[in-house]
Amino acid sequence: MKMNLKEEIRTSKRPFVIAGPCSAESEEQVYETCKTITETNSASLLRAGIWKPRTRPDSFEGVGALGLPWLVNTGRKLGLPVAVEVANREHVELSLKAGVDVLWVGARTTVNPFAVQEIADALQGVKIPVLVKNPVNPDLELWIGAFERLEKVGITDISAIHRGFSVYKHPKYRNVPKWEIPIALRERLPDLPIICDPSHISGKSELIREVSQKALDLNFDGLMIETHRDPSNAWSDARQQVTPNELKQILTELILRNKTVSDSAEFPLNELREKINQLDDQLFDLLMARMRLSEDVGELKREHNITILQQEYWVEQISSRLGRSAEMQLSSVFIRQVMDAIHQESIRHQVKVMNVN
Ligand code: PEP
Ligand code: MN
Repeated sequence: MKMNLKEEIRTSKRPFVIAGPCSAESEEQVYETCKTITETNSASLLRAGIWKPRTRPDSFEGVGALGLPWLVNTGRKLGLPVAVEVANREHVELSLKAGVDVLWVGARTTVNPFAVQEIADALQGVKIPVLVKNPVNPDLELWIGAFERLEKVGITDISAIHRGFSVYKHPKYRNVPKWEIPIALRERLPDLPIICDPSHISGKSELIREVSQKALDLNFDGLMIETHRDPSNAWSDARQQVTPNELKQILTELILRNKTVSDSAEFPLNELREKINQLDDQLFDLLMARMRLSEDVGELKREHNITILQQEYWVEQISSRLGRSAEMQLSSVFIRQVMDAIHQESIRHQVKVMNVN
């Protein structure tokens, strides 16, 4: 089925949902999972991994081309388009031949410009929608580079999937969301639809609703949620998959807030924003005054031939603020970031006066 995915995402009711198993395991598993997803009206595009990029070599690496007709036939029977992850020319060619409707580039592929270029070359002259997941590392340029490689070969129907970024042992997420990166992407490419993949961000099914809600509150266009008829026995990503009924439940519970401000909210919102603006102005006035004092300190240090960084003094300053974290109701991470930013700027001002002859 030829489709204009970008247009469908834009015009569908929010959120546009992509669902289906992490991996295709058997014809029956793909069909049964997708059938319930479709019957509960939970998705507009079905997914299943056929070739799986696994961290360790002894993990299940996907059923391979054998699974393509399972997914394509499922989609045809249920009347929905289907999507597959491709990582090289052979995957692209086999998927196109099998009649797959949408391709996606996985995070471990986006990270490698050679691989993205190989996929782009295989797509020269082909008209098919492509979804590009963010690279595993938080590199916005690399993500944008992948869109550009596809655009250069004539692919026009491109959307992005935000699936978070690799970290070593995070207490909450499998892949940290770093929301500022998809937000920056939206600033750079305002017409590009962005789908959130809460499954790979969360790594555990109980976190999917929270991450999905956050994505909607940040105006994401859609969600890709891994769905399996029997998650605990899934051959890959068992911990993060949900059943089709759980998917339905999550989607029902999501609150869709308006992207635009309603008339009744406009006045009080503007008033609050004005107050906040004034406080932000005051904060900058204070910072300016503070940096002037830093310059005085710099001059004094120069006269007495003392180094700029007085490590122990600074550590003391940070810990006294961190100690007031509860009282101020500010997170310790935030306090640390603010103190570090102030310190960096203060050093810049001191260096400026230190080095005048
Ligand atoms: C997937 O969607 O199954 C997958 C492998 O995801 P990612 O590329 O985000 O790791
Ligand atoms: Mn997966």
